[in-house]
Amino acid sequence: MTWVTGADGSPYGVTNLPYGVFRQNGGRPRIGVRIGSWVFDLAGAEAADLVLAAGALCRPTLNEFMALGRPQWTAVRQRITELLTDPAHRGAVEPLLVPLDEVELLLPVEVADYVDFYSSEHHASNVGQIFRPGQPPLLPNWKHLPIGYHGRAGTVVVSGTPVVRPTGQRASAEGPVTGPSVRLDIEAEVGFVVGVPSPLGTPVSVDDFADHVFGVVLVNDWSARDIQAWEYQPLGPFLGKSFATSVSAWVTPLDALADAFVPAPDQDPPVADYLRDVPHVGLDLRLAVEWNGERVSEPPFATMYWTPAQQLAHLTVNGASLRTGDLYASGTVSGPDRGQVGSFLELTWGGAEPVKLGDESRTFLADGDTVTITATAPGPDGTTIALGEVTGTVRPAR
Ligand code: MN
Repeated sequence: MTWVTGADGSPYGVTNLPYGVFRQNGGRPRIGVRIGSWVFDLAGAEAADLVLAAGALCRPTLNEFMALGRPQWTAVRQRITELLTDPAHRGAVEPLLVPLDEVELLLPVEVADYVDFYSSEHHASNVGQIFRPGQPPLLPNWKHLPIGYHGRAGTVVVSGTPVVRPTGQRASAEGPVTGPSVRLDIEAEVGFVVGVPSPLGTPVSVDDFADHVFGVVLVNDWSARDIQAWEYQPLGPFLGKSFATSVSAWVTPLDALADAFVPAPDQDPPVADYLRDVPHVGLDLRLAVEWNGERVSEPPFATMYWTPAQQLAHLTVNGASLRTGDLYASGTVSGPDRGQVGSFLELTWGGAEPVKLGDESRTFLADGDTVTITATAPGPDGTTIALGEVTGTVRPAR
């Protein structure tokens, strides 16, 4: 129970407490934690010695705090919980609560490297059927390693940032043409943010996932399918995805998701030793995709074939180092049913089966369209917590 007005019973109650960076009246960026419909100003709290984090909460991004490591993450979370639940602290803390609707939310993390995986068997198999009809839907390597590619960290943007329709090359019957993408799509994903770095040359074990990963964001990996289809062979996605990747403004700490870990799907054939995680667990995050306010899909993250711990171990098995602020995303989250897919490519089966959206029939994104991805997860004692939404509106090509 918290003394904060309206927070008990909300999906942003005291068992959630996601971190973000906010600004009020154009002021300087401040780290805060969400409680109900308020932001608890942690920069102010640390300046007043209410919370101690070696000054890391007085920075313009979460990076320095995330670099402190799990014991400090847990201690700070415990202290924040104490401040928000013990009425003895109300007098000191209440002046540091800012109404959520009075703040601008900023990119919470200075993203170091960005990697995107391809870990949903249903998604990979749907895309295989759409792009390579008549061939086996999964390529021979797919069940042996989590497929991924390196993306563009500098174009990771916070939820709410408008997305300008990208221009690029696409194939046509008359040869390649250059122009605005005509098959602009989304990918509903879950991202993992690295706090504690690792040295070059030292792989990170599947067992050390929780020592390195600070928390989780929702991701929309905007994708221009026509640009992607023409450019992706032989080296993989490039400009079809690097124009913008949106992330939620709130980073949900792993500590808030303790009740959301569930057994991941069995893996057959058996995986390489460095990918063998015990327990083999994923997260029971229930995503929802809204297209212009209409819920069109509910992707279940628990169905992902490769787990976040396996992804992290794979990312470093060659000795690549981790940096604070590294972001790795799961890949599109798609369940077995059409109502559970995380891309419009799948929802409309390559554009062949338009969906009804209000009075309109749609395949890919039109200028002015807004897509919002939300998610909930099991919290303690049968409660439900929410992850911060990721939303964006498509602007016309320049
Ligand atoms: Mn993706």
